[in-house]
Amino acid sequence: MTSATNTSPALEYGAKAMQLMGDNNVEPTPGAYGVWYAYASGENPEVNTKINERFEASKPFDSPFMYELESLLSAPEEQLADSTIEAGEQLTGKMDNVIELIASVSGDTNRFGKSMQGVSDALTSEISAADLGQVVETIVAATKQMETRSRELEEKLTESKSEVEELRSNLAQARSEALTDQLTGIANRKAFDEVLLSSIAEASQNGSEMCLAMADIDFFKKFNDTFGHQAGDQVLRLVGRCLSNNVKGQDTPARYGGEEFAMILPNTVLEDALKLANHIRETVKSRELVKKSTGENLGRVTMSLGVAQFTMGDTPQTMIARADAALYEAKEQGRNRVVAADSAATNEPAQATG
Ligand code: GH3
Ligand code: MG
Ligand code: MG
Repeated sequence: MTSATNTSPALEYGAKAMQLMGDNNVEPTPGAYGVWYAYASGENPEVNTKINERFEASKPFDSPFMYELESLLSAPEEQLADSTIEAGEQLTGKMDNVIELIASVSGDTNRFGKSMQGVSDALTSEISAADLGQVVETIVAATKQMETRSRELEEKLTESKSEVEELRSNLAQARSEALTDQLTGIANRKAFDEVLLSSIAEASQNGSEMCLAMADIDFFKKFNDTFGHQAGDQVLRLVGRCLSNNVKGQDTPARYGGEEFAMILPNTVLEDALKLANHIRETVKSRELVKKSTGENLGRVTMSLGVAQFTMGDTPQTMIARADAALYEAKEQGRNRVVAADSAATNEPAQATG
């Protein structure tokens, strides 16, 4: 099995959101960005339905409508990190600057047009050679001024463009951070929720196979109590590595919370999911733990896993509940094992734990 190198689609969604906002004259607020990001990623079907209806009705994306959509998005505590909002605000500021600049240049163009009109009026009447000299000077001066302003505008626009690009990439980075568990470096609960929802939607649409595994470290409280929280954190990082090193490209390992982990396995039949779960269980169990600070031997930890297979009509809640029930069954049967949901059949003989 190969290690996962998932490129985040966040950058693509962010760019799409920016483009859609520009194309549809949406006032560039952070909230509006959130709505269009959700539209681009398809993470909130209700937002997509409302926006598509609006497109069909050819109505503008005005502030009242955008506020209505913003209220459909997740609760404030689930929204993106402060840094994302800050980046969105900076982006708004940058756009305002560009708009002001364009407005000031169109004022110049107006003035240029007026002075040319003056020249043209002068030329239609009879004029002396001296006056003609004056007219030519006026044209030359006005043209030079316009040239300078155009060059300045071009430079400022180029500068703004690269600043906007940088902000855009900051936004993508902030989003990726908001979706990563800081301790283990794998997907966090928020990312897990998003991926599970989209994987279930895909399996429902295509009738494809899909599995969800929930995993929990055995007797972890005892481990923490004996060796300390920092050694416990070292174990969590080890489990995170074991998961990400053993899944394929499409799979998503995640820290579900505390000492619980999960794996979303699209296009995977139950048999293969059970094999993978067992392989990961073996890998974790095989690692001898050594306390980094003292070199003290901490023994080994084991994990129990429950695996649920997608069936038509499943929601994230129903799949998690089945995988959790199987995990509970694995604990009941003595831990350090994998149990498939529903059948509740263990495919690993009971082993000593510790
Ligand atoms: P079981 O085999 O039934 O799962 O027993 P357990 O002791 O693992 O289960 P329990 O739910 O009683 O304890 C979970 C423990 O996980 C509690 C806490 O000490 C530990 N834990 C949860 N989150 C963290 C964390 O972020 N870091 C560390 N070091 N420990 C954590
Ligand atoms: Mg637990
Ligand atoms: Mg536990």
